[in-house]
Amino acid sequence: MKHKYIFVIGGVMSGVGKGVTTSSIGKILQAKGFKVNPVKIDPYLNVDAGTMNPTEHGEVFVLGSGMECDQDMGNYERFMDVNLGNADYMTSGMVYKHVIEKERNLGYSGKCVEAIPHITGEIKRRLEESAKKSKSDISVIEIGGTVGDYQNIMFIEAARVMALKNPGDVLFILVSYLPVPGTLGEMKTKPTQNSIRMLNSYGVQPNFIIARGPYPLDERRKEKIAISCSVPTEHVISAPDIESIYDVPLNFEKEKFGTIVLKSLNLKAKSRADNLAPWRKFVQKIKSSKEEVNIAVVGKYFDTGDFVLSDAYISVIEAVKFSAYSLGKKPKLTWFNSKDIEKGQMSVEEFGKYDGIIVPGGFGESGIEGLISTIQYARENKIPYFGLCYGMQLLVIEYARNVLGIKDANTSEIDPNAKNLVIDIMPEQKKLIAEGKYGATMRLGSYPAHLRKDSIALEAYVSAGVLPKEGVKREISERHRHRYEVNPKYHIRFTEGGLVFSGVSPDRRLMEIAELPRDKHPFFLGTQFHPEFQAHPLSPHPLFTAFFKAVIEKSKKNE
Ligand code: GLN
Repeated sequence: MKHKYIFVIGGVMSGVGKGVTTSSIGKILQAKGFKVNPVKIDPYLNVDAGTMNPTEHGEVFVLGSGMECDQDMGNYERFMDVNLGNADYMTSGMVYKHVIEKERNLGYSGKCVEAIPHITGEIKRRLEESAKKSKSDISVIEIGGTVGDYQNIMFIEAARVMALKNPGDVLFILVSYLPVPGTLGEMKTKPTQNSIRMLNSYGVQPNFIIARGPYPLDERRKEKIAISCSVPTEHVISAPDIESIYDVPLNFEKEKFGTIVLKSLNLKAKSRADNLAPWRKFVQKIKSSKEEVNIAVVGKYFDTGDFVLSDAYISVIEAVKFSAYSLGKKPKLTWFNSKDIEKGQMSVEEFGKYDGIIVPGGFGESGIEGLISTIQYARENKIPYFGLCYGMQLLVIEYARNVLGIKDANTSEIDPNAKNLVIDIMPEQKKLIAEGKYGATMRLGSYPAHLRKDSIALEAYVSAGVLPKEGVKREISERHRHRYEVNPKYHIRFTEGGLVFSGVSPDRRLMEIAELPRDKHPFFLGTQFHPEFQAHPLSPHPLFTAFFKAVIEKSKKNE
């Protein structure tokens, strides 16, 4: 079989769910027995997403390789239960940088280097490389932005040429939006028609139109779009707003979308089994989990209005859901800005009402003291506490200050002159920073850790089936994105003072998990890594699940 490419492009406006559509198409084709690799194209000029502000752009997702990329990559990994690689992600910045560097190195033998064919050629080369590396049958490629943007034209052009040269092997799917203006109360197709016309002007005719909108598409409008846009009616797929994004693959299947896509690619399903059954069960569980547990998420990025939070912490939110649903509970998250605690606008006592507290990752100094008081309150009042990355470092600082009596304990990120830097950068990083090489000082991507016997962490991974019950192999691998570490000079003081480092790097220099034993606290645990990046719907993260088991116990007491 020749490799097939499906391009997903957005029409009318951004934010209508191209990422979920791409993930869902991948999911249903996987279920039909194909090996599918998703690819995200971000048209901006950043070379990766590492420098982007999460409150503006959403979460920076980290791949196992350490690449910092768009949050959509997280969606693909979660829906399709895959681990993606560097070749599956590209930005305009990456493409241009490569072409310019090649030109500087005389890689074009003196030719004039131009957008077409050199930029488009590099895009095609990258797409082919990602197909080859993943050994897939079909690539599903999401082109970021919307038809009509300046920035994504080169990518659409590269796709057009690929389609021209490989007739029958390339499909275009337009994810469009059909608004229902309040004053009219009627669904309008015109913006979609205009998007398609615009796409046509680039020489691309979409094969499918996904009609996103507040309601399902009726037959009349389906036909209208089909005729005005020259596609068969059954190639117009209704995709109304729904409660859970995880319903989307199942809704697509109701319209036989997978089968029609395969037919358009001249393919027949490789598997006739009901491979979506576990997914259906998971979606069912979302719906049947009615009983709520209340989680306070306390952070420092929460001052730009509630609506952005779901993007800035999407992997945390999804990880929470997977574990809670797997235990039949519905998580209710309440967001707190730790600066409000510092300003005296709220008291930590407020957290007494919650069944659990999460402090997610973060950078910089604002709001930190508020977080430390939150953690102290959780520890002293035995409220299940889960700290992710910064949330672990602050747990360590809180323990040093309030249990070990090291009053000025701090991290060099906040006060490099503090006498007791219990969180610090490692000596080898200091050298790089002195040379101004900040980028190279982050610990990014997957690193192994060894788990301690008789720890809450080990028990969590064993009971989730990730590690065997018996045996010597107690190694896990988790993704990182941070610069600072627990200072090795203080390891012994912490251990003697009752804090357990239940996950450590193989050379025992880096502390990966800190916890209190269960006889001291029901769940007081922090991870230097980001467990949320590896939580998937059908395999929830062991530590989130262990946290939720403690949360459920606490909720029984709160009733
Ligand atoms: N700011 C901390 C560090 O750089 C934690 C980072 C994070 O939470 N991702 O080490």
